[in-house]
Amino acid sequence: MNTAIDPLHSGLSQIAGSKLFQGVDLGVIDAELRESGNLCIEAGKVLLDPKHDNANIYIVLSGELLICLEPRIVNPIIRMGVGDCVGELSIIDASLPSAYVVSAIETHLLIIPKPVLWRMLALQPLMALNLLHVLSHRIRENNVVLLGSLELQRAYRNKAETDTLTGLHNRAWFEDVFPRQLELCERTGQAAALLMLDIDHFKKVNDQYGHQSGDVALRHIGMLLLRNLRSTDLCARYGGEEMIVLMPGTEISHARLTAERLREQIANAALILDDGREIKLNISGGLAEWQPGTTLSNLISAADLALYQAKNAGRNQIAVNALPQTLDECQT
Ligand code: GH3
Ligand code: MG
Ligand code: MG
Repeated sequence: MNTAIDPLHSGLSQIAGSKLFQGVDLGVIDAELRESGNLCIEAGKVLLDPKHDNANIYIVLSGELLICLEPRIVNPIIRMGVGDCVGELSIIDASLPSAYVVSAIETHLLIIPKPVLWRMLALQPLMALNLLHVLSHRIRENNVVLLGSLELQRAYRNKAETDTLTGLHNRAWFEDVFPRQLELCERTGQAAALLMLDIDHFKKVNDQYGHQSGDVALRHIGMLLLRNLRSTDLCARYGGEEMIVLMPGTEISHARLTAERLREQIANAALILDDGREIKLNISGGLAEWQPGTTLSNLISAADLALYQAKNAGRNQIAVNALPQTLDECQT
């Protein structure tokens, strides 16, 4: 509601203390101040919203305003106290307010309509400088909020792309990243190889040591993978006790050496449980050479087939499958 209270009486000290009027001779703009309105809104009322134009700048004389992303008091982004002003961005760039401004408690405001503000600025150029300060402060504040929400987004994305048990990337991640990496190899003419790993007789590990120790063993393997791969190798948990590694820029002969080294490291690094029991773990691996034009799905099939061969040949070993003969053979 717009009340007829004289703003100069009701909030002179708050006006003088406001950032917009800092150092300004209020006597010079006395007429303009008297033309300004005075508004009192109760708690929870929406003052500005992104659906309605705003033609005023508001100065908080008492109470508190909250900047929210919803038309109610939910997770306020910024709090505005006595002397703060709102609405300045939307009146300067003549666009709709970018968020909701809601009163936290009963709040008294000085309303300065846009034409009155322009006249004030003409009479007191210092106010223009103050307005610039207010705007730059607002932009910085918005940047901090934006940065915070980007960090939050990053954290959510990280959560969505990480396997909580092993800390390795998960399937959603590699299904997004691997095809893009293969595209890059295609464009740059780089070689690439894909390794599928599977823990040998893992069911027995669970049966003998319990499921929780099985989980510890999975984490142990994940840690050994990260420790023994190059930073350019892309590694993820494929599912269950299977892991997948894409090695861009790696010829198959080199990838084989890496896979063999990894297999050996895992075989030699027995896991000691908290109760002192020791678990010996072995992995089998299937390696496939990527060739330009090969899809990720075909590459996985080829590595899978090699893994199957490694298991059949007695486990604790790496088998290599070359494309595309492998798939042709599979299909015949
Ligand atoms: P193979 O040498 O042929 O691979 O034998 P395996 O026992 O490893 O293979 P199988 O596929 O029969 O068993 C896989 C086991 O892995 C069964 C399943 O309970 C276990 N497993 C899968 N995911 C997890 C997990 O997150 N935690 C634990 N503890 N076990 C898991
Ligand atoms: Mg398996
Ligand atoms: Mg297994």
